Amino acid sequence: MNWPPTSVSAPIVPADADGIASAARLLARGGLVALPTETVYGLAADATNGEAVAAIFEAKGRPRFNPLICHVDGRAMARTIGLFTPLAERLAEAFWPGPLTLVLPLAAEARIHPLVTAGLDTVAVRMPAGIARDVIAALGRPLAAPSANRSGRISPTTARAVAESLGERVDLIVDAGPARVGLESTIVRIGDDALICLRPGGVPLAEIEAVAGMPVERAAADAGIAAPGMLRSHYAPDMPVRLNAADVRAGEALLAFGPGAIDGADRAVAVANLSPAGDPAEAAANLFAMMAELNAARPSAIAVMPIPSDGLGEAINDRLARAAAPRNAS
Ligand code: AMP
Ligand code: MG
Repeated sequence: MNWPPTSVSAPIVPADADGIASAARLLARGGLVALPTETVYGLAADATNGEAVAAIFEAKGRPRFNPLICHVDGRAMARTIGLFTPLAERLAEAFWPGPLTLVLPLAAEARIHPLVTAGLDTVAVRMPAGIARDVIAALGRPLAAPSANRSGRISPTTARAVAESLGERVDLIVDAGPARVGLESTIVRIGDDALICLRPGGVPLAEIEAVAGMPVERAAADAGIAAPGMLRSHYAPDMPVRLNAADVRAGEALLAFGPGAIDGADRAVAVANLSPAGDPAEAAANLFAMMAELNAARPSAIAVMPIPSDGLGEAINDRLARAAAPRNAS
């Protein structure tokens, strides 16, 4: 709901009862709200609303769909999203609310939009302290929220820094003063009998090891995602993907974009249109689910119509290019 930018900065409101109510109301309508957390200011959207989540990527100008952290108001909400082992429960009990993010298997009935997890079958969950938690409780749904800065800039720890970076692209900025921790959350993946640090952050690993009674393995940043086979995506097609298709060949399914048609579309074994109107945010919200849908039709390949690379198109094309790449090269 922020595009095109109006060049009018969003209102900055104090973190009081009115601020919480306004934030929850805007989020319920699919808006973007910059919220203070103890780590840094976050750019929040309803994690169950694909178009709202797409708007996060659009506002940040992120060139790819990396998975986002889901923020919850407590362990009960967290359990509706991720599968907790006893070890995960112990860590949540010790460090929540606080700057510890747990990467867990995605719960089968989780209503999280696939754009939040980038189609992975794991989900990153954290319970923040203070006003962000109050907003989540008022909304009654988890919030997807990366840091509230343009892609490639440093994370904002004040409302003013958010306004300078994203003021024209959000609906509201809630001001609770400087962030207490000022550093991102520590991200730990809960494996079978193992804890893997995906990102060091606000909770020292030694404190996690003390509670867990076991060592935390150090992985390179994002290794949990990058390493082939470690995390299988529900949405990675088994079929070859043919990008910038000008026609549909025998046996192929068609992933269309926009109002136009291409040769052979009528003989596609399955067709899905990311956005008949050619709206990149709608396309982003549909991307993972439609790839899975076409894959389920067992085509010989998925032909993808050209998608313009401006705005969110860049991230959409990045994701499609990865799907099209040879399996052992990703
Ligand atoms: P941020 O930009 O602070 O929201 O960072 C989110 C971080 O969490 C990224 O480094 C992601 O790689 C990581 N992350 C989020 N979801 C997952 C997931 N399902 N599996 C592994 N890492 C994740
Ligand atoms: Mg960031």
